[in-house]
Amino acid sequence: MAAAEQGTAVVEGIQVDTRHWIGGRRVDSAGTFTDVSPIDGAELARVARGTAADASAAVSAAQAAFPAWSRTPAAERAAVLHAIADGVEKRLEELSKVETRDNGSLIRSHRRGVMPRVAMNFRFFADHLLRLAGGEVHPDFATRGHRNHVSWDPAGVTAIVTPWNAPLMLATWRIAPALAAGNTVVAKPPEWAPLTASLLADIAAEAGLPDGVLNVVQGLGAEAGAALVADPRVRRVCFTGSVPTSLTIGAAAAANTTPVSFELGGKSALVVLEDADLDLAAELAAEQFDNSGQVCLAAVRLLVHERVADEFLHRFLARAAAIRQGDPRDEATDIGPLIAQRHFERVSGFVERAIAEGATALLGGGPNTDLGGLYFRPTVLTGANLGSEILCEEVFGPVLTFQTFSTEAEAVALANGTDYGLAATLVTGDPERADRVSAQLSAGTVWVNCFFVRDLSAPFGGNGRSGIGREGGTWSFDFYCDVKNTCYAPRGWTAGAPRWVEEGL
Ligand code: NAD
Repeated sequence: MAAAEQGTAVVEGIQVDTRHWIGGRRVDSAGTFTDVSPIDGAELARVARGTAADASAAVSAAQAAFPAWSRTPAAERAAVLHAIADGVEKRLEELSKVETRDNGSLIRSHRRGVMPRVAMNFRFFADHLLRLAGGEVHPDFATRGHRNHVSWDPAGVTAIVTPWNAPLMLATWRIAPALAAGNTVVAKPPEWAPLTASLLADIAAEAGLPDGVLNVVQGLGAEAGAALVADPRVRRVCFTGSVPTSLTIGAAAAANTTPVSFELGGKSALVVLEDADLDLAAELAAEQFDNSGQVCLAAVRLLVHERVADEFLHRFLARAAAIRQGDPRDEATDIGPLIAQRHFERVSGFVERAIAEGATALLGGGPNTDLGGLYFRPTVLTGANLGSEILCEEVFGPVLTFQTFSTEAEAVALANGTDYGLAATLVTGDPERADRVSAQLSAGTVWVNCFFVRDLSAPFGGNGRSGIGREGGTWSFDFYCDVKNTCYAPRGWTAGAPRWVEEGL
């Protein structure tokens, strides 16, 4: 760990405050936890280990800031969010370097895609706020001249708990709409990659976000996280992470009747019909190794029509074999390490058990011993038994499975054959089949002949174990706000006029 003052760390030459950010002040805890880089196991920082009292203090700060922020005119709120986006763009290189060191994702992805998207999260929801600011009038609902006016009223303090696989992107995909909606936020970053959230707090303060509107409490999920989501003053709980954690958080939120938005795991399929462009299919399949497969949306189950299976494999394996694994700080690297030893063992365990049960590796199949550490080879398994763990459970590593089908109906049954329903990718050259098959796929997002194209105004979320609710565009405001309908009587409406209730309508 580079020498630094207490409460700060120096990561890739960049100073990062390792304390909480509560009510516009840096606050320490008595305890710390150690943040380690997955690239080489180096200790990066000792980060404040938030307690229940710290979480409570952050909620108090957010609650105190809520009345003023929620009444701040939309144009002013939007201007602050744009200023945060400016700050993100200004510090894009620093954010990229710190994130790469902290979670092992590619520097080139951070520079070109992820950090620009962080800025976009703020810009998009600032602009969307302005579109909704006046509310919506629904003359279509009008009943004998009554007018319904729908408004999105800020709901209150919002708890945002996020994972490590794309820390700042996932946090801001929730923080930005919550702030735009007029809510105040307490964010609990992931303990395996906590640092960029702290830089965001600096950026937000510099952008003029009032004290207490955004608070960051560092710490462990079972400590700071659990206390935060159980606080009855929290009016929205927003969680991105694993299914088991969602069950605990859901129970805590239910006790307070606090609405939740859950974005959870996935086991998505990539369906290649026999009329597909096989170069495109092979390219899309190879993309599933991005971020070492630590992507909730990854289409990890390759389902290919038997007639084109050999040719697909030939093209896909050639592409996959060319993937360069190594230090994610190198622009030429295609995939880096897994996040942590515990996760590495989890991924290895899935692969070992699948092979022990009869699956064979077409590619990879274990750790990258040339690199050592947490580097796991891009792996493709075939021959897994239907219903087996490797085909049903989320691995969250660079591990794909390969299966064939002979009919469209079989493809749909296989694709829908897990408890998850986050996404599906379909490759076909026939527009009619694209419509017919995608209509039968159970997933929050279906990509046809593409992957990972995200329009922030489109709904995003999962079916089944993949989550609860949808966010994106107006769907985000529906969640972060108390949506209200105000019904105005027409001019001249009198107390004696017939009432709907009397007419049985
Ligand atoms: P996780 O559930 O272990 O942790 C996520 C966050 O929850 C962390 O910040 C953690 O500290 C916190 N947490 C843990 N226990 C808690 C508790 N009892 N109370 C409150 N907070 C608690 O998940 P992870 O391993 O960090 O992330 C990987 C998972 O996230 C995968 O399942 C992946 O699919 C999912 N994910 C989903 C999406 C999506 O949009 N659907 C996106 C990214 C990741």
